[in-house]
This record gives sequence, structure tokens and C-alpha cells, in this order.
Amino acid sequence: MIPAYSFFGDDMDDYDVVIVGAGPAGGAAARSLSKSGFKTLLLEKEKSFAANDFSSGGAPIEILSDFQLPETVVGAYCREIRISATQATHVWRDDAPTALVLDFKKVRAFLAETAEKNGAKLSLGCTYRAHAHETGHSVVTFKKAENGLTESVRAKVLIDATGSDRRVLTGRTKTQADWKNDVIVGRGIEYLVEVPEQVYQAYADCLSFYIGAKWMPQGYAWIFPMQANCLKVGVGRNFPGMQFVPHRAAMRDYLDQLMAECLKTDQVNILDRHGKTIVYTCHHRDRYADQNVIAVGDAVSTVNPLTFEGIRHALKSGEIAARQVQDFLEKKTANLKTYESEMRAYCGMKWVVSELLTKKIYREPEDEKMTLMLQALKALSLAALKDLVFDYRLKAVMCFYAVYQFLLFKRIFSFQAKSTRTGRSG
Ligand SMILES: Cc1cc2nc3c(=O)[nH]c(=O)nc-3n(C[C@H](O)[C@H](O)[C@H](O)COP(=O)(O)OP(=O)(O)OC[C@H]3O[C@@H](n4cnc5c(N)ncnc54)[C@H](O)[C@@H]3O)c2cc1C
Repeated sequence: MIPAYSFFGDDMDDYDVVIVGAGPAGGAAARSLSKSGFKTLLLEKEKSFAANDFSSGGAPIEILSDFQLPETVVGAYCREIRISATQATHVWRDDAPTALVLDFKKVRAFLAETAEKNGAKLSLGCTYRAHAHETGHSVVTFKKAENGLTESVRAKVLIDATGSDRRVLTGRTKTQADWKNDVIVGRGIEYLVEVPEQVYQAYADCLSFYIGAKWMPQGYAWIFPMQANCLKVGVGRNFPGMQFVPHRAAMRDYLDQLMAECLKTDQVNILDRHGKTIVYTCHHRDRYADQNVIAVGDAVSTVNPLTFEGIRHALKSGEIAARQVQDFLEKKTANLKTYESEMRAYCGMKWVVSELLTKKIYREPEDEKMTLMLQALKALSLAALKDLVFDYRLKAVMCFYAVYQFLLFKRIFSFQAKSTRTGRSG
């Protein structure tokens, strides 16, 4: 490991690594790099982890062991996955918990606190403003919320973990209208609600998803258990601003309808409202690294476009980046270029297929086909469903798609047979 030198003769602090953004990706990178002994600064624009608690936190149970997360970051465990279309519902059940709902603020706080215990410095309420390359390092400038003053530090490596905002390496946010087919934009809004015990029990132990025109055209809706008598109720829309499937513009309308029809009670206390827009770049055309700057998590589109599940993948990219940065700082590699190939290998064909499915499923204007898709999913076991929605395994995708095509074919055939019979009898 290379020590941090301070021979510049000014009062600017020197770091091996400055990480901008304490989301899952930045937190994971900070945890790994500080554990390896690198002098690490983690900057976060929000003043507390509760401030941007936007993510629903649904994930497969394996996330705990895969990323060494403690049970304290779990909101609730789930043995069931339930999917409802406009006209049908199906439930998959396991004897043991198969999925969980993370408490997003606790995950981010845990990663940052672990990094602090390893010796990293965490600075909340600090917004990245700019950076400039100088020989062997970058000067990173940020603004502190507490006094409105601007400060600068020196970093041998700078990590952009600002999520979909891409503030450091790309420096601008793309919109659906700007980039048309080159990006998939997903916008989600969610309430954390307190409900009576019997309402909570109807949704406890289960990840409930809602698809189709009734619940959320061009996207999906969800109800997740969070903690005793608290649920996360949300809706997400893909390609906002575009009408592939007819819909009302206000996403709030669908959220209110979901609450009214599913919770069926006036005794709902809204504890928190949050939301965010995520921009996914098709075929991962983002910039991964440039000189001593590297981007992680949603800043390089690690979120899966089919499900908009992104916490695991952000954690993974933070860990992969940390290894690459370590090799670079220890001069085992001359640059950070191999990070891109490692990330591409991680996402691989699975993300490409997810892009295709996203464009097919969420742009489907015929609601009856959404119900047929649910029927096709019914053919899958819980393990195969998890392979599809959490691991995007090609075998599961092909199995689903083959059954769906068969059902479509059957529908056309029975439709034709019916019209022939009607024609004959007429
Ligand atoms: C409504 C919604 C529901 C979701 N539900 C799920 C789910 O159920 N399961 C799942 O796995 N994923 C879900 N996701 C996706 C998941 O939350 C993201 O993919 C994941 O958080 C990405 O992690 P990240 O660290 O790359 O970015 P982020 O979590 O976005 O973190 C980026 C951080 O950078 C900070 N930042 C930004 N700009 C600056 C700046 N200039 N200076 C300093 N700091 C800055 C931000 O404040 C933020 O803390 C959901 C997303 C949305 C929008």
C-alpha cells in the first residue's frame, strides 16, 4: 500500500481515494479500500442517510452473505413472491425466506460506518463541485452545507459514485427525450406507510408486484413489508414522457389507487414520501474510467433495466472498482482500464437480454398480453422465477418466452376456431 504524502506545502488534505456519493456503490468501495489501508474520504451531499431513502430495497436473500451485510440492515424477510396482473394473481411460496426488504438508509449507514471504523473519513452534507487533473493526482472541490464554504482536497484516485446523476465523470444527466432508444429511464415514487396490524399482515412475508394497465401501464407497482405495521407502497414507470401504453400522466394517481384498492383502509399514516429517476444507458455506453477517475454503480448503469433492482449490482461494482483501484495505487497496473472489461463481463449478455425484454414488456399496449405473461410466469417454479427476475438467467428467460409465445399462439388459434364456428352457425 502506498502511504499518503503531504509534501505540497499547503493545507490541502491528501487522500489516496476520494469517493463522491455514499450510496451502495460508494459505500462498498469505501469499505473495501479503507479495509486495505488506503486513506479514503467518502463525500455525501445529503446531511443524513435518512434524507434520500428512495430505494424500496427488495433483493434476494443471498445479498446478505454475498456482500457481508448484517441482519440489522434488513427491514423484513419474505417467503412469498406475488404477482398480480389486471385479471389474475399468482403466488410463489418457499418454506424459508427467499427474499428480503432492505432498510436502504441502514445499508448505506452500515457501509459508511464500517469504512469509518477502518479509518476512512465520512463527510456528510458535502456536495461535489469540480475536479482538476494535476500530475499524479486530482484536486477535488466540494461545498459544505453547514457553512456554504468550498473546500478542496487532493486525491490519487477519484471515484464517481453519484448514481444516475453521473456528476463527476460524465457531468450531465441524460433524459429519455434527449437520447431516445439509447437510454431506458425509470421513474419511481414510493410512500412508507403505517397501517393497522391486520392490513400489514396481508402483505407481510411477501414481495407483492402489480403489472398491467390497471396498476401501472409501462411499469409496475409494488407493496413490500418494511417493519412491524409499516409497508412500502410504490409505482414505477419506464420511458416517462413517452406514451407506448396509454396512461394518465400523474404517477400519483396510480399510487393512490393502489393504496385505496389494496390497503382498503382510511387508517394510513404516510411516514415518508420519496422517489427518484434512474437513467440506464443501453449497451453500457457509459464512461467507466478516465485517467485516475473511475465510475461505479448507477453512474455506469449497473441497475438492471428489467426490474430496476440495483443495490446488489452497485455493491458489486464498488467491490470490483476497489480491487482495480488497489492494483493501480500499488502500481500493479498502469491504468484503470481493466475495470471496464471486468464490469462488462459481470453484466454481459444478461443485461442485453434484460434491455430487450424491458422494451418488449413495458411497451406492450395490449393489457391482455400482460395477463398472458403472468400465465407464462406461472409455469416457472419459485427457483426458476428467481433465476429470471433476480439473475436474468438466459435459460429462465427462454423458458418464460417460449411458454408466452405458446399462449399467444393458442389464443390466436382459439380465436380463429371461435370465429369459424360462429361463421358456420351464422
Ligand atoms: C423508486 C426506486 C425503487 C428502487 N427499488 C429497488 C429495489 O427494490 N431493489 C434494488 O436492488 N434496487 C432498487 N432500486 C435501485 C437502487 O436503489 C439503485 O440502483 C442503487 O441505489 C444504486 O446505487 P448507487 O450507489 O450507484 O447510487 P445511489 O444509491 O443513487 O447513490 C448515489 C449517492 O450519491 C450522492 N450524490 C449525488 N450527487 C452528489 C454530489 N454532487 N456530491 C456528493 N454526493 C452526491 C447521492 O446523494 C446518493 O447518496 C430502486 C430505485 C428507485 C428509484
